[in-house]
Amino acid sequence: MNKLTLRDLDVQGKKVLMRVDFNVPVKDGVVGDDTRITAALPSINYVLEHGGSLVLMSHCGRPKGKKNPEFSLKPAADRLAELVSAKVTLAPDVIGPEVKALVDELKAGEILVLENVRFYAEEEGKAKLADDATDEEKAAAKAEMKTKQDAFSKELASFGDVYVSDAFGTAHRAHASMVGVTKYIDQCAAGFLLEKEIEYLGKALESPVKPFVAIIGGAKISGKIDVVTNFLDKCDKILIGGGMAYTFYKAQGKAIGGSLVEEDKVELAAQILKQAEEKGVEFLLPIDNTVADAFSAEANVKVVGDSIEDGWMALDIGPKTIELYCDAVANAKTVVWNGPMGCFEMAPFAAGTFSVCEAVAKSDSISIIGGGDSVAAVNLSGVADQMSHVSTGGGASLEFMEGKQLPGIVALTDK
Ligand code: AMP
Repeated sequence: MNKLTLRDLDVQGKKVLMRVDFNVPVKDGVVGDDTRITAALPSINYVLEHGGSLVLMSHCGRPKGKKNPEFSLKPAADRLAELVSAKVTLAPDVIGPEVKALVDELKAGEILVLENVRFYAEEEGKAKLADDATDEEKAAAKAEMKTKQDAFSKELASFGDVYVSDAFGTAHRAHASMVGVTKYIDQCAAGFLLEKEIEYLGKALESPVKPFVAIIGGAKISGKIDVVTNFLDKCDKILIGGGMAYTFYKAQGKAIGGSLVEEDKVELAAQILKQAEEKGVEFLLPIDNTVADAFSAEANVKVVGDSIEDGWMALDIGPKTIELYCDAVANAKTVVWNGPMGCFEMAPFAAGTFSVCEAVAKSDSISIIGGGDSVAAVNLSGVADQMSHVSTGGGASLEFMEGKQLPGIVALTDK
C-alpha cells in the first residue's frame, strides 16, 4: 500500500482527528449491534497507547443536513465509553466555538466525539437545487455550497494535528470528513480497518494468487456490470448466480419462464459472454435451478435444468450447480464473492447461497466477501470468522471491485 498508515504517524502529544464509522443501529437511545464501534477500537487504542488524544468524527443515519437529536452520536459515544478506559466526551456540536474549546482542553489519552457530521449539509456538499432553477442559479448554488464545504472542512481540520481515516464504508464518498479535511492537514493516514480493506481488496485485484475465482450474484446485472467487466481481466473463472443469471440465459436464447430479467441488458449480457470467451475466462452459469410457481416461501418448488418453462421462476441455483460451484471454489487460491446465489431470505431458496458460503469457508483460498447481502449471508451461516476478509463497506467494496479509485483513499498522503 503506498499510503501512510497509522503506524507511520508519530502521535505522541498530538491531536488525532479520526474519521470512524459509528453508523450503528440505535433503539431507545441504546446501541444495538456495536460491531462498527468495536471494529474501530484497534486504531483508537493505538493512538491512546502512543500518547495521543482523539477527536472522532462520524455520521449516523440520514439527518439530511439538520441537527436532529434522533441521529445524535450520544448512544455511540456512551457505548465507546464502556469499551475504552479513556475519558470520552461528546461535543454538543460538530463545529463552533464550544467544540473548539473542548478540543483545546483535550489531554493525551482522552477522546472527544464530535456530533454527527451529517448535521451539516456541508458534510456531503450537495447544493439544494430548485426544480425550476435556471442553469446559472444551479451553478451559483453549487459554487456557494463548495465555498461553505471548504470552510467546514477547514474548521474540522483545525481540530487535529494529523488525520486518520478508518471509515471504509464511506470511502467512496468525497465528503468533507473523508476528503475535504485532507486538504488542510499534512499527514493523512489509513487506520487499521481501512488498511486491511485496502490490503485484501487491493491485493486480490492487483496481484491475485491464482486460480482466482469470482462469485457474482444478486438481483440484477445492472448493479454488478462494472464488477463483472473488471473481473473479466483478472479472474480465471467467474461463477454467476442470483437473478442476474437469467438475463445471461436470455442472451443465450434459453427459456427463462417468469424469472427475473433485464430486457435492456440482454445485449450487454451477450457481449460479456463473448468477451469472456475471447479472454479465455471460464464463465459459468447455473446448469440447473430451483424454480417456484410464485415469489413466495410457500410456493410449489421443483428443480429443473437450464430451461425454465412458463409459469415458473428460478429463485435459486440447483443442486448440480451447487456441486459445480463448490468444486470450483475448492480448487481456487483466491475467491472474491459479491451477491447471493438466490433468494436466500426465503428458506426454500437459500441452499445455493449457504452451500457456496460453506465451500468458501472450507477452502484454503484467500477469501474476500464484499457487498451487503453476501456479508449478511456469511454472518447468518456463522462462518464469517473462517473467511480471510469480510468487507465492512457495501457500496465502497463494490466500487473497489469495479476497479474505481475511492476518493477517501486517494485523498490520503502517499508514502
Ligand atoms: P443485490 O443487492 O443486487 O446483491 O441483490 C440481492 C438480492 O437479490 C437479494 O435480496 C436476493 O433475494 C435477490 N435475488 C437473488 N437471486 C434472485 C433470483 N433468482 N430472483 C430474484 N431475486 C433474486
